[in-house]
Amino acid sequence: MDFRFTEEEETFRKEVKAWLKEVIPQRWYDLGPGIWEETEEGWAISRTFQKQLGQKGWLAPGYPKQYGGSEMTIGKQLVLSEELARSDAPVSVETAIAVSWVGPTIMLFGNDEQKDKYVKGVATGDLVFCLGYSETEAGSDLASLKTSAVEDGDEFVINGQKIWTSYAHYADYCWLAARTDPTAPRKYDGVSMLIVDMKSPGITVRPIINILERHSFNEVFFDNVRIPKENLVGEKDKGWYELMIALDHERSPSGGAAGFAKVLEVLVDVAKKRKIDKDPNIRQKIAQVAVAMEVSKVLGYRVAWMYSKGLHPNYEASISIMKASETLRHQAEVGAAVLGPYAHLRRESKWTVELGVIERMLLSCLSIGIGGGTNEIQRNIVAQRGLGLPRQKM
Ligand SMILES: Cc1cc2nc3c(=O)[nH]c(=O)nc-3n(C[C@H](O)[C@H](O)[C@H](O)COP(=O)(O)OP(=O)(O)OC[C@H]3O[C@@H](n4cnc5c(N)ncnc54)[C@H](O)[C@@H]3O)c2cc1C
Repeated sequence: MDFRFTEEEETFRKEVKAWLKEVIPQRWYDLGPGIWEETEEGWAISRTFQKQLGQKGWLAPGYPKQYGGSEMTIGKQLVLSEELARSDAPVSVETAIAVSWVGPTIMLFGNDEQKDKYVKGVATGDLVFCLGYSETEAGSDLASLKTSAVEDGDEFVINGQKIWTSYAHYADYCWLAARTDPTAPRKYDGVSMLIVDMKSPGITVRPIINILERHSFNEVFFDNVRIPKENLVGEKDKGWYELMIALDHERSPSGGAAGFAKVLEVLVDVAKKRKIDKDPNIRQKIAQVAVAMEVSKVLGYRVAWMYSKGLHPNYEASISIMKASETLRHQAEVGAAVLGPYAHLRRESKWTVELGVIERMLLSCLSIGIGGGTNEIQRNIVAQRGLGLPRQKM
């Protein structure tokens, strides 16, 4: 099997690299990794960049041209996402939420007006979405969600609370899972997917500060929030299927492996600088990460290939995201071994190495393998849908 890219794809890679070099401002790199969540300046740079990507049809390259994409081949999409990751471009989870998870689901289940407004809006970089799934008593067991949406004339009235809602404080809209039929016999039934304008009266967004002392997720309270009925996506009470499709998209990493490669380069470089590159223990650890990275990359390619063939990856996506999250944790641990005490220094320290990238990885990797379903839940999916083992009693 030949995993190399074609000559045309490699030419496209050069074009992407040159363009990224031209448009990403140096200030972005000076601010340091992970900054988009922390400062208004970082966020503004990232929004501007994403609109520039959108103008080229590169923000949602796989979308139809009609909806702001460029109908790019899967090979070129991989090249593009690899180069975005490699250049530490100002795109992040908030981009993926709108472009890679919500957009494709609305494309599948939404009507023409919804596609025109929301799918096009995310492809141009104009709309930011947050995901209103988890509740205090509904995480892994998402079907237990209680937030209600009750029909009242031409509107739904929403009441309830969501938690861990990433980027709700920036989002224009929430892609909300709500219970529209509390009498349904099975808890998977009676759930609908709604698009909620985050400026609607009755919404309160309360920050949750994470271990990195960043504000990336929130609690969101809905107190008699009214939205027009036209914001229901797909069929009422049948939203569980939409939710599962959106989650499969969330579990389908693509260019992440290129980001891994960048960290690997840092590890090799620092090992040389610290003159521990001949230490057999360190060499073994770095080589193991390199192998894990390659495996993760190929698993991601498989998921991308399935999409390109019109197939819908399910347990394959779960395998891919699990391996990606484990690789990230593995990288952080090896980073700690290679950097020694420097690994724990923050970006602000005058002794910091590589702008504190490993310190951030060490802390952020604690939450990786939870968002989008924990790794235990991914393994359950692999057991049940991949291996045909019986369904677990919940
Ligand atoms: C960085 C990050 C971003 C997030 N962003 C969002 C967001 O934008 N929107 C949103 O709605 N949610 C978001 N979440 C929430 C996330 O989806 C939930 O945290 C996750 O689904 C787990 O739910 P929980 O926290 O309630 O844990 P629980 O469901 O309470 O799980 C606790 C533990 O029990 C294990 N467990 C539970 N059930 C089973 C089972 N059946 N088999 C085996 N083990 C099991 C879990 O694996 C876990 O280890 C985010 C989470 C993180 C970490």
